[in-house]
Amino acid sequence: MNFKTKALIFLSSLFLSTVQVFASPLPYNNPINGGVAIIPIKMIQKPEVFYKDKRVAVVPSNVKDTWLIIAGIPLEAKNSIQEMFVTKPYKGVIPFHINQKQYKKQFLSIDNKRKVDPHPEDEQRIAQEKETMSAAFAAWQASQPFKSKFIAPVKGRISSQFGLQRILNNKPKNRHTGLDIAAYTGTPIKATAKGEVIVIGDFFYTGNTVIIDHGQGLFSLYAHLNKINVSQGQTVKQGKVIGTVGATGRVTGPHLHWSMIMNQTFVDPLMFVPAKEIVIKPKAKPKKAKKQS
Ligand SMILES: [Zn+2]
Repeated sequence: MNFKTKALIFLSSLFLSTVQVFASPLPYNNPINGGVAIIPIKMIQKPEVFYKDKRVAVVPSNVKDTWLIIAGIPLEAKNSIQEMFVTKPYKGVIPFHINQKQYKKQFLSIDNKRKVDPHPEDEQRIAQEKETMSAAFAAWQASQPFKSKFIAPVKGRISSQFGLQRILNNKPKNRHTGLDIAAYTGTPIKATAKGEVIVIGDFFYTGNTVIIDHGQGLFSLYAHLNKINVSQGQTVKQGKVIGTVGATGRVTGPHLHWSMIMNQTFVDPLMFVPAKEIVIKPKAKPKKAKKQS
């Protein structure tokens, strides 16, 4: 690809970013590590775009011949200029800037020591399960997942934010790749959007788990379920009860761990559903009647 093509794509993306083209209910555009970048691109034919060698979602906008590239940004990404690569209908590069967010630490105490320091026989199971999940997230379906607003799978208290550096029993572990919503065991969990159930299973860390493929490399994952109400290969509508809240896998108590994955990258679920639509506000205390004196 020559410099002229490169420059044109860059300039058109700069120009269009000032135009209101966000027609459909999209995730919240927030180009940070763990966030989502939405970049408009002008092209007659739908482009195919890759970021860090992973195919990213491209959806139509409400402006003629303009598409929206929607990409998840890895938690490890630093404050920098990144590049997306257009491979079809012709080759080009789209540079974009990401800001770095500093995520906090979270100290947790897990009673089940084996879930913090797995036994040698657990290691093989953990590796296999990681493989199953990675393979699932590499799937690609053409269906457009951004046609309706995403919904909260469960309402409750947010007990752990996405991206936190986890310190379990004083040992630094992986970053938290989802959002934890505390709720009572048995609370119904709804599919955040329509899609196809591609994985169900009982996993070492995530317990009873459901993964839904929404198309264009977007997936939702629901972990620590008490019961699973769907089967593999089942197509579910938005709001379908896929199971109930539980405390299976590595947990400190009953909650839903909800992950959103785009281009094989875990992103903050709050980019899809704002906290105010998840958190149940405690009822306001009734005002005390004024004492008559
Ligand atoms: Zn979690």
